Amino acid sequence: MNVLVLNCGSSSLKFQLVETDVDLMASDADTCKARGVVERIGSQALITLNAEGQPQRKLATALRDQGAALDFILRNLVLQPGAALPGISALSDIHAIGHRVVHGGEKFKKSVLIDSEVLRGIEECIELAPLHNPANLGGIRAARSLFGEGLPQVAVFDTSFHSSMPEEAYLYSIPYPLYRRHKIRRYGFHGTSHRYVAHRYRQLEGKEREATNIITVHLGNGCSACAIKAGNSVDTSMGFTPLEGLVMGTRSGDVDPSILEFLAHKEGMSLAEVDLLLNKQSGLLGLSGLTNDMRELLDEEREHGDRRARLAIDVFCYRVKKYVGAYLAALGGADALVFTGGIGENSAEIRRRICNELEWFGIALEPEANVAMTGGKEGVVSTAISRVKVYVIPTNEELLIARDTVRCVKAVPRRW
Ligand code: ADP
Repeated sequence: MNVLVLNCGSSSLKFQLVETDVDLMASDADTCKARGVVERIGSQALITLNAEGQPQRKLATALRDQGAALDFILRNLVLQPGAALPGISALSDIHAIGHRVVHGGEKFKKSVLIDSEVLRGIEECIELAPLHNPANLGGIRAARSLFGEGLPQVAVFDTSFHSSMPEEAYLYSIPYPLYRRHKIRRYGFHGTSHRYVAHRYRQLEGKEREATNIITVHLGNGCSACAIKAGNSVDTSMGFTPLEGLVMGTRSGDVDPSILEFLAHKEGMSLAEVDLLLNKQSGLLGLSGLTNDMRELLDEEREHGDRRARLAIDVFCYRVKKYVGAYLAALGGADALVFTGGIGENSAEIRRRICNELEWFGIALEPEANVAMTGGKEGVVSTAISRVKVYVIPTNEELLIARDTVRCVKAVPRRW
């Protein structure tokens, strides 16, 4: 099946066109036929298209919304004469659409075929993800109007992998009725990424799901850690929103909540402004005063010895280290620590700093293997005697969304 995977943000749309099938899953014979991103939707948009066997194209045009962006992509990839992708020459050659949906609340514990009840459910979660869910819904509606009602669409939620967390991990210690009344609890995000790398780890180790006891660390612009026991997420560092937990590109991660009121008072800010500060001006950017980009910070530190760049990196690594320690305790020990995400996959230096002095816990990096593991490579970076194996596994959320889409579509035979 050819599955169009859509990840719609408020002003961006990322997509992949993936050929995959339940029958192919065991052999990993999936192919990505095209991928790309539309940025700055709502004004003069920038479009990057990569199609199999064709040079990359960068385009610019005014696109008012997600519908216009999706229409533009399809015209340029599928409907334009000469644009032909292997096996795709008409919209009918796209067999299903898989959407990344950020928040599934407590309702969606796995991926689902979208119908009017599912749409209502995603709408109900808008108050939990006011920026993301409306954009995701915009993508679903745009796809429906372009492809028609008949094309199956599937929602894959960022939160659902973490729905297996026990109460002790997802409850905040605030008055319990507030959880009941407002659903204030920890949900966790990045679920598709943690689930994908856990699945890949199992394949590499030849393990059963039930025997998978690992810690996965997704370090990109957003960062989160996940404790996985018997294949299930039992704890994760992001909480009610993606703000909690690790230090990120522009998000603070954990802070004492009393800071909010104090800051609002001292700086004459509204609570909304403080929230924005913690989400957009903190993390690596806030600490360094330079950038949210880890590669640039590492360059600054190495080439100019910049003190604040070093500080930002140190705080970032220390926070990850603390979560690894916490999750080793939560799990009662783990078989592996898996790094993924742009930083986790590419930066040997960050992995080194995080794992430094964790030998007592049975975590020992093999320096040469660690340095060699960059640029999309996958494998073990720990020593032969490291009790906890350390892995680098590039994430592939789109592939997991495509596979879930096939699974959901094929589970309803009348449709397929
Ligand atoms: P997103 O969360 O937006 O998907 P990515 O997973 O692509 O982001 O991660 C982006 C981060 O990865 C940036 O901070 C970038 O600097 C960092 N990164 C990418 N390559 C390297 C590298 N070789 N060394 C250090 N950091 C890197």
